[in-house]
Amino acid sequence: MDLNVLHNIGYGMYIVSSNKGNLLNGQIANTVFQITSEPVTIAISINKKNLTHEYIESARKFSVSILEEEAALSFIGRFGFKSGRSEDKFKDIKYIKLGSGCPVVIDNALCYLEAEVVDQFDCFTHTLFIGRMIDSKILKTGRPMTYEYYHQVKRGTTPDTAPTFIKGEGVIKKADKSKQKYVCKVCNYVYDPETGDPDGGIQPGTAFEDIPDSWVCPVCGAKKSEFVKYE
Ligand code: FE
Repeated sequence: MDLNVLHNIGYGMYIVSSNKGNLLNGQIANTVFQITSEPVTIAISINKKNLTHEYIESARKFSVSILEEEAALSFIGRFGFKSGRSEDKFKDIKYIKLGSGCPVVIDNALCYLEAEVVDQFDCFTHTLFIGRMIDSKILKTGRPMTYEYYHQVKRGTTPDTAPTFIKGEGVIKKADKSKQKYVCKVCNYVYDPETGDPDGGIQPGTAFEDIPDSWVCPVCGAKKSEFVKYE
């Protein structure tokens, strides 16, 4: 069995949100699929440990925001690597509340939909929720971010899940500090001096050593000191 086969399955990048009374939460999800067209049903797979899971079970509704390619890594990191149990992910971001009370993230979203849970299936670590679409809206035109784009272009990559064609990248000479990549111990984001971190104010061509100490991981917000050399 070759697990690399799984890297060839296509996915998108979404924020799935729900609420428990006035409490709001959302998370990045790549598994959002339309299942049927009449009626329109949507399936999402959510980890049982996530706060969003608890909220969906409570509200029996969820929203899906479809992210644009322009969405910054730090924005994705906020919804993908932080827990709503330790911070309010909706603080200082644009969102709306639908009539049902379900929140929808509209920052960096091209469009959204809301669904009412009609069934759910236990799937080991996750629950597969089936929702009937009850609302939807286009917010702007643009290109929806795919999971592949997130990894390949936004560089929100994790080495152990990177598709095999990344392995063809040039070998870094250990002595050449200006080209040494560094990896975040928290989220596995790889800083590549060649591309820098323009969203974070770091120009392409900046060696890791020359990045100011105030810089943080664009994905998870970890300090520069949490980075180690990427071998
Ligand atoms: Fe990180």
